[in-house]
Amino acid sequence: MRVLFAAAEIFPFAKSGGLADIAHALPVAMAEEAAVTAVMPLYRFIERERFGIRPVGERLSLSFGGARYDVELFSCRSGGVETLFLHHPLLCDRDHLYGPPGEGYADNDLRFAIFCHAIVALAEKHRFTHLHLNDWHTALAAPLAHDAGLRTKILFTIHNLAYQGIFPKASITRCGIAPRHFRMEELEFFGQVNWMKGGIAHADAVTTVSPSYAVEITEPEYGCGLDGFLRVHRQKLVGILNGIDTDLFDPAEDPAIPAHFTADRIEGKRRCKEALLKEFDMDEYEHPLFIFIGRFVEQKGLDLLIETAPKLLERPVNLLVLGDGEAAYVEALERLAGRYANLRLRVGYDEALSRRMYAAADYLLMPSRFEPCGLNQMIAMRYGTLPVVHAVGGLRDTVHPLKGGVKICGLGFVFEEMRPSALLKAVDAALSLYGRERTLAEVRRFDMECDFSIASCARRYLALYRSLS
Ligand code: ADP
Repeated sequence: MRVLFAAAEIFPFAKSGGLADIAHALPVAMAEEAAVTAVMPLYRFIERERFGIRPVGERLSLSFGGARYDVELFSCRSGGVETLFLHHPLLCDRDHLYGPPGEGYADNDLRFAIFCHAIVALAEKHRFTHLHLNDWHTALAAPLAHDAGLRTKILFTIHNLAYQGIFPKASITRCGIAPRHFRMEELEFFGQVNWMKGGIAHADAVTTVSPSYAVEITEPEYGCGLDGFLRVHRQKLVGILNGIDTDLFDPAEDPAIPAHFTADRIEGKRRCKEALLKEFDMDEYEHPLFIFIGRFVEQKGLDLLIETAPKLLERPVNLLVLGDGEAAYVEALERLAGRYANLRLRVGYDEALSRRMYAAADYLLMPSRFEPCGLNQMIAMRYGTLPVVHAVGGLRDTVHPLKGGVKICGLGFVFEEMRPSALLKAVDAALSLYGRERTLAEVRRFDMECDFSIASCARRYLALYRSLS
């Protein structure tokens, strides 16, 4: 088996969210059993020296849409995986991955068409047996691979159905898409081109990143307009729960946190909390520390968080919010931070701070409206931070309410309805547990020992590859 694993972002080279985490961890976890090569764009901001990224001395010459694109290949090796980087100025020479916060670059169709044509050229040239495509940025490679007559097996993973890669019909020509694909059963979507549809239609298997999400997206509420289309392809749709890189997210060794700890030796967590409260000039150590980390978009339940915040912040809690995204959310959070002394807001993307937060916090808030999988809650539990989540998608699959004596990995606080009263009820349950120190310690320990590692996820993908061979 020779697998080409394509993603628009891979940690640590470039990351905007969970896709990068998985695109890093999964190939590494599969590397012992299959030859996996990862491929991504060599964005301008990637530090080539730091990662030892060198030119391969190979170019791909792509011709489509009446133009020629020369793509230069680079590579580096780590964790048993070779990562190939594709460089073309149009694709790579930007300040952001997809556009400034809350926006997309106007030529993202052409940028990622270059990526997709290059993926297919690589698959053809180096005879990969499997092509694993991730999200819309790579989806076009599926129909293009069939156009090129490749017999490579194609697996397409939907990390987030909300982003489908929808462009005006006119973009077909410049992206080098054969007009015959512009039909309802493939890329056509209400008169526009929808790349994700192309990926789904042309893949041999389609996965989502949690079992619940695989079911939810076949229903109108979560289907983002593709539920009917997905029902047609239901036979090849399967949910495989994501996992986390437990070496990378390890409170016993994480270089980003001020004190280390394990489930057995938890004292360091207290020092992490003290240090973080000091860093943010917050006092009241004895109050539970809640955190929110994530993109400021509707998906993450920012509106619910903002609506609930005044009541939440009147309680004996500290809340620290880290993220970036839509301006309206930033402004609303800034206003709240001006009013409540127990709220701190950090706008931006800060990997090291996120680690200090996971390590220091008592509770993670994750009121997502929908959540394909969600990694934050798994990372939080690994650091002994209990999640408070909306029961949806991967959150439903990974966080179970603390009820009765049954313990299923992991444990946390779960609310069903997207209403402030429901969120507050879950918060109050968390506050009440905070007062019961011994039980809190037991639950914390249980969550830290839950196995959310990427290993079982990798085994399932390998089995799926084999079933396609
Ligand atoms: P998404 O929908 O954004 O992919 P996930 O829960 O799957 O959500 O993954 C989010 C990942 O990105 C986690 O590793 C989380 O810690 C990280 N993350 C999100 N926002 C930030 C931020 N502002 N700073 C640092 N890390 C962040």
